[in-house]
Amino acid sequence: MEKRLLPVVGVGPCPPLIPRLSCVRKLFIATAHAISMPKCPECKRKIVSLEYRAYELRSGLMDRESKYSGLVSEDVLTDSIRYCCPACGHVIAVDEDSAIRFLRGQS
Ligand SMILES: [Zn+2]
Repeated sequence: MEKRLLPVVGVGPCPPLIPRLSCVRKLFIATAHAISMPKCPECKRKIVSLEYRAYELRSGLMDRESKYSGLVSEDVLTDSIRYCCPACGHVIAVDEDSAIRFLRGQS
């Protein structure tokens, strides 16, 4: 029976000729894959990103064909912020910190 390869977790010297930064990045990616991907508590699908929904005050220009350009978000109604499952719309978080913790599997 073959031994399964486990992801390397830990800090060691980088191999020569490889910049230290890229070595750290590879370690981070290997560790991220080792963490189980979060699942929606409602539909149980794996989630890699959340759908952001909020009421925002936007401003920009509109021309005579009613085409908008240069739209920017000037303010957001913080009570309306929702981070939802992109598959079923279930609300996962109501603030950015919680949404990030969920996506990183830390909630
Ligand atoms: Zn869902």
